[in-house]
Amino acid sequence: MAASKILIVEDETPIREMIAFHLARAGFETVEAGDCRSARELLADERPDLALIDWMLPDMSGLELTRMLKRDKANEDLGIIMLTARAEEYDKVAGLEGGADDYVTKPFAPRELVARVQAVLRRAMRTEEEVVSAGVLELDTAGHRVTSDGREIRLGPTEYRLLHFLMTHADRVYSRTQLLDRVWGANVYVEERTVDVHVRRLRKALADVGADNYIQTVRGAGYRFSTRVEP
Ligand code: CA
Repeated sequence: MAASKILIVEDETPIREMIAFHLARAGFETVEAGDCRSARELLADERPDLALIDWMLPDMSGLELTRMLKRDKANEDLGIIMLTARAEEYDKVAGLEGGADDYVTKPFAPRELVARVQAVLRRAMRTEEEVVSAGVLELDTAGHRVTSDGREIRLGPTEYRLLHFLMTHADRVYSRTQLLDRVWGANVYVEERTVDVHVRRLRKALADVGADNYIQTVRGAGYRFSTRVEP
């Protein structure tokens, strides 16, 4: 299997080189950019699997770059990890809302960064799996079927897509806006409460097999799929 390719977008050369060094040692192929402009060129030419994007860049903020990349369908499968400085910690939420898969706070241990990169890549690979299972649920992407212990759970097309997205992105909270973007598509204009309607239908269908509590409401934030059910 070819090594995953990581694009490092960071203007501070020593940090960028340090990251490249550790990623290469962990078996990754790396490409480096010092600003957003060259990052976008490299994205088109090199097709990396994941981009590490620093928050503070000379020509555009890393957050703006992330938003821009995520709006483009060509980057749908691109994993994004944001690098943030401590003082910017409050912006973590904005980073995730902007479409980043994860963030790492500076200064970081190289080992931690490598682990985060591996985790995001693993998660991206999960979305390509044919059969996704979680708890009592099994989702067959080839047959568009969801079963529990061999018993089929009947779902509408939107509920199916919603469940597929949530099962392949388990244990992470998604806001209604993010779910609309990722499940309905970025250019579809539907109201946020549409999400609630479909979540309700999905829960109702899953209740038959006792899996309705996998779809968890996180107050003030959105929804999360988890088989770890809190008491
Ligand atoms: Ca920087």
